[in-house]
Amino acid sequence: MIMFGECHAHLLMDGVNYKKAVELHKDSVNDADIRAKFSEYAKREIFYVRDGGDSYGVSQRAADLAGEYGITYRTPVFAIHKKGHYGGIVGRAFSDWKEYEALVKEVRERGGNFIKVMFSGIMDFSNCGAVTEPPLLQEEIREMIHIAHEEGFAVMAHVNGAGAVKNAVEAGVDSVEHGNFMDEACLQALAESGTVWVPTFVTITNLIGGGRFDDDALRCLKREQGERIRRGFELGVKIALGSDAGAWRVLHGQGLLDEYKELLHLMTEPEKGEENSSKVLKKFVLTKAELDQRLKEAEKIIRRKF
Ligand SMILES: [Zn+2]
Repeated sequence: MIMFGECHAHLLMDGVNYKKAVELHKDSVNDADIRAKFSEYAKREIFYVRDGGDSYGVSQRAADLAGEYGITYRTPVFAIHKKGHYGGIVGRAFSDWKEYEALVKEVRERGGNFIKVMFSGIMDFSNCGAVTEPPLLQEEIREMIHIAHEEGFAVMAHVNGAGAVKNAVEAGVDSVEHGNFMDEACLQALAESGTVWVPTFVTITNLIGGGRFDDDALRCLKREQGERIRRGFELGVKIALGSDAGAWRVLHGQGLLDEYKELLHLMTEPEKGEENSSKVLKKFVLTKAELDQRLKEAEKIIRRKF
């Protein structure tokens, strides 16, 4: 049992096999599959789920079924990305502002609760520190957030890389998803803003030992993101729990428990074998109660805005 909500999931995917998951919903949405996933949440007493979107109508349909499980479910219907950039896996593309505005309106017509946007590529799991493609331009990031806000929607943004995250934060984005490779200036801007950060740490840590990527590169990514999360807590950044459940090796329900366990370990325990080194003594730590409190406060903001 866990007393937190899942702030980032994709009901379309299953954490095991993307192709099979899509196959299941390709012709028409499979209610039994959605129900099985909601059962995993309800079983663990997770009663808040915020989806990151999909292009098959799964998260739209899920909104109709969530109530049967006592789950408050929030959906962007689909995520929106700029044509030619990352995001096809979870959503729809636009090539000019007219198309973007039309997609935002479609989200409203289909009962979406907020707007999910893609501002950058994903981290390169084989190359510690790299993002798969250059991010959108500052003006584009600003305009996408501005239009969604004008329409009365909160904005959840998939974004990696210090420059792009900082641009999103300064443009008033409501939540930063992943947020890998932030630098000190970016973390400080985040701390001073009203933006909530959902680091989805298990999208790195759960891959270790999976055999798909080089474990040394994954351990490097884990160390890098871990240090930023720790610094984020130290600076007062609002950090919420979200696992990106549905992503490879991140299971619905269990993913949130995994994410909590990773953050608990990161923030309350020194690294094994380093207990006596001076490096550890300088590390910022929290008690479990403090961590729980911080995570709850951030989740409260997510629940209020989204
Ligand atoms: Zn996601």
